[in-house]
Amino acid sequence: MEWCGVQVRLVSNITDIDDKIIDRANRENRPWNEITHKCEAVWFDAMNALGVLRPTDVPHATEYVEQMVEMIGDLMSSDSAYATDDGVYLDISSVPDYGLLAHQNLDDMLSGGGDREVLGAAQKRHPADFALWKFSKPGEPSWSSPWGEGRPGWHSECVVMSLQLLGEGFDLHCGGADLRFPHHENERAQAVALGKTFAQHWMHNGFVVDTEGEKMSKSLGNVTNLVDLVQHYDPRAYRMLLLQTHYRSPVKVGQDNIDSSVKSLANLDGFADRMAKAALPAMSADSEVLAKFRELMDNDIDTPNAMAIIFDTVRRANIAIESGDTDVCAALATAVHEMCNALGLMLRSGDDIDAAIVERAQQLDAARVAKDFAMADAIRIELQAAGYVVETTKAGTRVRRA
Ligand SMILES: [Zn+2]
Repeated sequence: MEWCGVQVRLVSNITDIDDKIIDRANRENRPWNEITHKCEAVWFDAMNALGVLRPTDVPHATEYVEQMVEMIGDLMSSDSAYATDDGVYLDISSVPDYGLLAHQNLDDMLSGGGDREVLGAAQKRHPADFALWKFSKPGEPSWSSPWGEGRPGWHSECVVMSLQLLGEGFDLHCGGADLRFPHHENERAQAVALGKTFAQHWMHNGFVVDTEGEKMSKSLGNVTNLVDLVQHYDPRAYRMLLLQTHYRSPVKVGQDNIDSSVKSLANLDGFADRMAKAALPAMSADSEVLAKFRELMDNDIDTPNAMAIIFDTVRRANIAIESGDTDVCAALATAVHEMCNALGLMLRSGDDIDAAIVERAQQLDAARVAKDFAMADAIRIELQAAGYVVETTKAGTRVRRA
């Protein structure tokens, strides 16, 4: 979107209090906020390694409890919410188009099961009514409210933070396909009950699964999660794998496609290297190629076909340079760089760096991801002593001759 000239303000919230966090804190006998700080740091390290830009705002649920209590108060005074013995619930009959996101009527949704609140079911007016505020048990983290000590329900966090930071009628709300119902439906329901306009558009992405379609687990040897993956493979290869799958489809991750992604990336890096050495004239990007790329990206972010355009442009640039057509080659090469940058895929040109040095740079990245900063520093000092400038970029460490 930024490449198209759209001004983007991205809010990505952190749920730093919920039932699972409290359970884990009790089990491990640690403060709940120690767990959430650690998880957040690990998450952003992995995003960094993948070249994912930091969101504009990263609000934490616990910083907005006061505003949530205020919103729940508004819903209570308009009779859209009611209190039971265990919390405060939204009355979904006050939301005329409830089920809009799920594209289902209420009976079908409920018979389909899913993650619905069963707590306090006996006192709920309707099985689909959901908790806005949960009263705390003794010893649990809690905040005060007019209805009793407790903590906000998950669906309330997001609606308060998004309306506060982005305002009514913000453009786009994203999330995993599993959040469509009940989470996003319930965020929206609260806004509707408050008489406010919520998100104008919704986009839901598919899951990361293994090649059998199961939740990714054992298919990559000792790689079981994102942190492992970016340690064992060039994070850009994973980024490329995601780009080669449409965001709405499940992303299949397995040995075969990770390997082929590593290979395709090496081809692109090789191309960038060849172009860097070819001393091409400065040419602006081939406009026909960029127009085609933009058309695909405008069509519901068709990254698989956009990636195909990149590979095709590389092929054409290679043909052009072989036939001595340096102007055509330069315009195509510039287009490749511009498209890769738009997708956050940073290509590396080798600069005559030998393979052992490149490997050390990759080990430096791996050490950093593993938080082995002593090792990362040692490798950096070693590379500098060998006469290289060591740069930290979004796509990882880059070395060039000093
Ligand atoms: Zn949310």
